[in-house]
Amino acid sequence: MPITKATEADLAEMQAQLGRPMRDVLGIAARCVCGKPMVVQTSPRLSHGEPFPTFYYLTHPATSAALSGLEAEGFMVTLQERLAEDKELAANYLKAHEDYIAEREVIDVVEEIAGISAGGMPTRVKCLHALAAHSLAKGPGFNLIGDLSLEAAGFDASKCRCKVANPVKLDERTEALTKSPKNLGNTSMQKILIVGGGYAGFYTAFKLEKLLGKGEAEVTLVDPLPYMTYQPFLPEVVAGSIEARHTVVSHRRHLPKTRIINGTMTNIDHSSKVATIVLPVVGEIKESYDHVIMTAGAVSRTFPIPGVADFAIGLKTVEEAIEIRNCILTNFDKAVNMPAGPARDRLLTFVVVGGGFAGIEVFAEMRNLASYLIRYYPGLTFADVHFHLIEAMGRIMPEVSQKTSEWVLSDLDRRGATVHLNTQLLSASDGVVELSTGEKFESDVIVWTAGVMASPFNKNTDLPLDERGRILALPTLQVSKEGVALEGAWTAGDVAAVPDLTGGGVGGFCVPNAQHAVRQGKLLAKNLVSTLRNEGILEYKHKNLGAVAGLGLYNGVFQSGNIVLKGFLAWCAHRVYHGLAMPMFERKHRVIMGWVSNFVFKRDIVSIAATENPRQIFETWASRPKV
Ligand SMILES: Cc1cc2nc3c(=O)[nH]c(=O)nc-3n(C[C@H](O)[C@H](O)[C@H](O)COP(=O)(O)OP(=O)(O)OC[C@H]3O[C@@H](n4cnc5c(N)ncnc54)[C@H](O)[C@@H]3O)c2cc1C
Repeated sequence: MPITKATEADLAEMQAQLGRPMRDVLGIAARCVCGKPMVVQTSPRLSHGEPFPTFYYLTHPATSAALSGLEAEGFMVTLQERLAEDKELAANYLKAHEDYIAEREVIDVVEEIAGISAGGMPTRVKCLHALAAHSLAKGPGFNLIGDLSLEAAGFDASKCRCKVANPVKLDERTEALTKSPKNLGNTSMQKILIVGGGYAGFYTAFKLEKLLGKGEAEVTLVDPLPYMTYQPFLPEVVAGSIEARHTVVSHRRHLPKTRIINGTMTNIDHSSKVATIVLPVVGEIKESYDHVIMTAGAVSRTFPIPGVADFAIGLKTVEEAIEIRNCILTNFDKAVNMPAGPARDRLLTFVVVGGGFAGIEVFAEMRNLASYLIRYYPGLTFADVHFHLIEAMGRIMPEVSQKTSEWVLSDLDRRGATVHLNTQLLSASDGVVELSTGEKFESDVIVWTAGVMASPFNKNTDLPLDERGRILALPTLQVSKEGVALEGAWTAGDVAAVPDLTGGGVGGFCVPNAQHAVRQGKLLAKNLVSTLRNEGILEYKHKNLGAVAGLGLYNGVFQSGNIVLKGFLAWCAHRVYHGLAMPMFERKHRVIMGWVSNFVFKRDIVSIAATENPRQIFETWASRPKV
């Protein structure tokens, strides 16, 4: 039975009738012809110009194999290049397609689909399109027939003749056209919503931009902050070794294909796939989605100790790092003109609570900054400045061996910094620090780094959480509901309880760190795209690479297995590792150039705490109307 030909006029009519983009119309048209739902993927590289802005292709396993591991942006160019470089792969690729064609008794060229999507194209291209149509008629077990890539592999498409096996009747075509867009499966644009643009969220969006074809999905990222923060650099921001702005990566600049919403997600109702976002000025809005990606990270975990919530400061954001730095510098400015005594001691006493990695790094960096400042403040000496680190456990830095942590302790001791082990903070009210050992002293700067907890926002969702408030995840980074993937829900980073398949981790789960967040974000993007394309997905498995910490200028510690570096070499390793790990070339460049400038000119020592009240001078002198 002949199939009704769809002309460009038909398409225009369908488009007008449906009010939907051309890609949907093409998808629907194919569905009409074949009577089957189809997975539609688009690629700008495959566009053959007007009037079809995108070209449709279907995925063949051989193509996926050829592309696996590739990250380059242009699908076809990549594939062609890949085939051109790897002759064996090209041969396998070609054979896979030939076998496929042979299997299906290709006999007649069918113009219909070719007419729809490739009118006026050479026969070779039409054949390929027709072949795609043929596979469609067999159901959703799709095949890529990419003309350019096949040509690169030496395929002579002009010899190929094929037909649609089971054409659909006219009335079925009408029925398909009138179906609501929701029932069109993947032919409608998928909406992906990312909650949180930190490490995991940023890398997920970044990778999605590379992997998704044009029109395949719309990616939206929601974060109240317009940037991702490279948190491992926060201690160096405190110390003045890195300019604060250089540690953040702009979402809008580096995620050009992602829709950015600067707002706070306040609720997710996954049962109806609707999220609530609060925007500044505008207020509450609702956003529907097909896939949600939960990457809202973690916040400082505190205990109900008097004074902590009101007086201490955390170290999770660049704003906190700037504030700590300003406080140290301002306190020096104030103290230098004061007589020795309790008031001056308070200004020059600095406390860090928590001896984990972040705590030790910031403590050591603060100490290093203070030692450097002394030379600019005649009248103040090394002995006038006091540093206290409070740790409830009997050791610091659980990420390194006991021996290595003891070296760090002795190094801090040598630098005049006191570490209180097996000690708890009992109170910090008004800056009066009371310890479980009975010691009591005053401090103007108390930095809280005693652990993190998954974003409390999780509780405003109907997603499954563990007892620590983390979103339960499968190793595939899909949200886990009773051990089974919850459709359309994904998670990664500090917010998630992702099983650690290496057998390491704490309680069998990946520890909250950037190493995991970055890698999970990238894999999540790949898995999500594979899911959209009905391809297989992978499990997350990453063995911890070790730990490296900066302990102030030219000093650090590194441990990976039994390999330990201390002092200058470890500091070099720290800078090389983080210099490379900083996302985006322009950010790396700014950070590294900053290090070079500081090496030559030394770090900046001015406090710009006045930015907290920037209108003060203007307001003081501004003329006001007479009353
Ligand atoms: C001082 C310090 C040093 C560190 N050093 C290292 C190191 O050397 N090596 C290492 O591997 N790891 C290190 N880490 C840990 C590492 O930075 C974190 O594990 C990593 O940032 C986690 O990434 P994430 O994407 O899960 O969360 P984050 O990077 O914290 O991002 C979460 C994002 O979600 C957003 N968000 C939160 N709530 C909402 C909401 N309701 N709606 C919308 N958006 C929301 C936030 O604004 C944020 O942008 C360090 C951390 C700190 C604090």
